[in-house]
Amino acid sequence: MERNLLNKISGSTIYSFVMCPRQGWFMHYGILPEQDNMKLAEGRNIHEFTKQTRGHKEFVMDGVKVDRIERHGERVFLYEVKNSTSGYPAARMQMLFYLFKLKRAGIYATGILEIPRKNKRYTIKLTEKTRQELLDFLFQMIEVLENPTPPSPKKKKICKFCGYRHICFA
Ligand code: SF4
Repeated sequence: MERNLLNKISGSTIYSFVMCPRQGWFMHYGILPEQDNMKLAEGRNIHEFTKQTRGHKEFVMDGVKVDRIERHGERVFLYEVKNSTSGYPAARMQMLFYLFKLKRAGIYATGILEIPRKNKRYTIKLTEKTRQELLDFLFQMIEVLENPTPPSPKKKKICKFCGYRHICFA
């Protein structure tokens, strides 16, 4: 996959795209969601709460942005906090993308997804199988993102809380 193309993709786009390809397309082209959206506000609050209670700073590097990073001996762990289990598939793919990018930079890391509200914690690893799954997903996503128009809106459960609903279902 072209390095340039890969560099243009953000973790937020991947997360949004898994939730809804139309949402991912908007995100990719910098069309911002309504900022007073309830779910976005919840997400911001939970990140802020975690930062304050655990005293860790965000880790940002070359398109990778996670809540914190820890090193235990030779092992590196990326931590990301989410506010519900419903976004798990999206958060997992986003984490695989981060692990993939870090690996290209020579850093072999493991991802930990935490959902404090549900007292859940998931370990995400980049293996041959998950790497291939990520690449297949990225190829499909890029194909959609390269279209000059977004995919059509499809009503689903998350539309109710989506910051783009005013565009999709005005
Ligand atoms: S309102 Fe629904 S269809 Fe539109 S971007 Fe959001 S989730 Fe996708």
